[in-house]
Amino acid sequence: MIAGSTQVLGVIGDPVAHTASPAMHNAAIAALGLDYAYVAFHVRPQGLPAAIDGMRALGLAGLNVTVPHKVAVMDLVDEVAEEARVIGAVNTVAPIDGRLVGYNTDAYGVMESLRVQGGLEAMPPRVALLGAGGAARAVLYGLLQRPEIEQVLLLNRTVERAEALARDLDPGGKRVVVGPLTGPVADVGLLINSTSIGMHPHEDASPLPAGTVLGPHTTVLDIVYKPLQTRLLRQAEKAGAPALNGLGMLAYQGARSFEIWTGVKPPVEVMMQGILGGAA
Ligand code: NAP
Repeated sequence: MIAGSTQVLGVIGDPVAHTASPAMHNAAIAALGLDYAYVAFHVRPQGLPAAIDGMRALGLAGLNVTVPHKVAVMDLVDEVAEEARVIGAVNTVAPIDGRLVGYNTDAYGVMESLRVQGGLEAMPPRVALLGAGGAARAVLYGLLQRPEIEQVLLLNRTVERAEALARDLDPGGKRVVVGPLTGPVADVGLLINSTSIGMHPHEDASPLPAGTVLGPHTTVLDIVYKPLQTRLLRQAEKAGAPALNGLGMLAYQGARSFEIWTGVKPPVEVMMQGILGGAA
């Protein structure tokens, strides 16, 4: 029930009507019986400063920030957490002691999905990461926090973009090796697709070059979540390799935002069901 005491959470984006976040968060709110409601706000770029002022004035309990505002919002909050600063994007804003603090929960989301769903308590020494866009920045940040990873092969269509990302996150050039998408990935223990290849409506495409042979010892995570079963994941399953879709990353990054806002760890399974039943 929405009452006078109900606290408001939300997501700002442009466009935003397609988002699964309200379904995901409201499912957790209902399961926990908390006095919150989560809504989507369509905010155009020119309206972003007013929206953040509005968050302060209305006393919103928290916001998710999605495309195209994740970078611009960094200048509008009072403080940016270290992780979000290094990743270069904020996806969560929370009022903390009267100040708006920007966080990035994507790195947590991907690493928690790998740990819980992929069973990877320890990471393999060699990992391949495909892509060098916004999502890849967060994934690479998460991977580089793990000392047991000796080398990340960062492969992207535009190699210069991967080089720039590697310079940013691995300035000494010690652990990240850059190459084109055709680079060899046969002997890595974990392969993560963070390109948009395979995403709806190009569901027949795979980021791996034709003829690539995956081994059964390579865990494959495709962070694309629309569709949930991509061509890459079908290739992994055919090779007998553990295959994970992007639903877990989406749910765990949402769970971390939820915990920042409410102080309560939400039921992630319920959030996943919310996404699947909502407008994912
Ligand atoms: P982005 O910043 O636009 O980056 C897109 C990436 O895909 C770049 O590396 C780009 O390579 C590559 N790419 C796109 N089309 C390509 C093509 N035809 N051939 C080769 N490479 C291509 O996008 P993003 O925000 O990083 O998102 C990437 C994907 O991750 C999307 O599918 C998104 O839905 C998904 N995602 C999932 C989650 C989750 O929680 N599961 C979170 C965030 C994003 P170039 O640099 O060469 O252009």
